[in-house]
Amino acid sequence: MQSPKYRFNQKDKKKWPIILAVIIGSLLLLTPVVWIGLHNWNLDNSLSALNFERKIDEPNPNAPEPTDSSVAKVDEGVEEPNQPQKPETPKEPLPPKEQEKTETPVKTPDEPKESPTPPVEKPANDEYIPNQKYPTTPTIVEGLIIANKHHPLPSDYNKGEDPKAREAFNQMAAAAKLDGFELVAFSTFRSFERQQALYNKYVEKDGQQAADQYSARPGYSEHQTGLAFDIGEKNFEQHWASVTFGNTPAGQWVANNAHKYGFILRYPLGKETITGYMHESWHFRYVGVVPATDMFTHKQTLEEYLDL
Ligand SMILES: [Zn+2]
Repeated sequence: MQSPKYRFNQKDKKKWPIILAVIIGSLLLLTPVVWIGLHNWNLDNSLSALNFERKIDEPNPNAPEPTDSSVAKVDEGVEEPNQPQKPETPKEPLPPKEQEKTETPVKTPDEPKESPTPPVEKPANDEYIPNQKYPTTPTIVEGLIIANKHHPLPSDYNKGEDPKAREAFNQMAAAAKLDGFELVAFSTFRSFERQQALYNKYVEKDGQQAADQYSARPGYSEHQTGLAFDIGEKNFEQHWASVTFGNTPAGQWVANNAHKYGFILRYPLGKETITGYMHESWHFRYVGVVPATDMFTHKQTLEEYLDL
């Protein structure tokens, strides 16, 4: 009983390694076959099954397309909150710009220096520029001296009444007399000191805000140029320095003929924001016949004519 068992064991002792090798070898060969078999004998599917993400594509018959779409879906899924992909790319560069902008505020100490330079705070033509200093020379544009609320004269500019302007006025007055109007220049040159005294008196009386409405500050009056003539009619003093002068026949004559002698109505009605002054039907400024005729023809103020 023991001998055959013994024989058997002894015979098998030599065969055991071979049997084990065959079994292991068979298992190694069968594993891939079984693995492929589990995936319907599709090698691609079997290999892709090793990749979890690709396994999602398995249901799709077309291998390449599903892969792309699935990848796209994954991307969209991740970035879904920012659905508009195309706008997104521009959006991404923007944040950095905003960051740059936020960086510039860091430089704010420099900005205040730059901001006053732009004309943002530049006052309107009918407002004075705060803390403006008097120049050492007058502003002259195209040969015409400027005196308005943005362009003061030097405080020592004191040339008196302009002879050419006076001569032109005399010719105009002579022509007006032929038409029955006796013109008077009741105020022409006014020195800086004279204007200062007048202005201070008005401020004391009505306050600065009110005084600024009808009287120029010293250095800003066109009368200091010696080229401004306040014109009225003799014996009609009630219309002197009054808007009503413009409604009188004499006032209308001057308004329609002054340019022929080189004078312009300096502060016309409706141009207050450009000239900076209320309408003054009596205030004329000598500029010469050609410029005066140009401005009269085109209904331009001195500021518009010189593009100030
Ligand atoms: Zn005047």
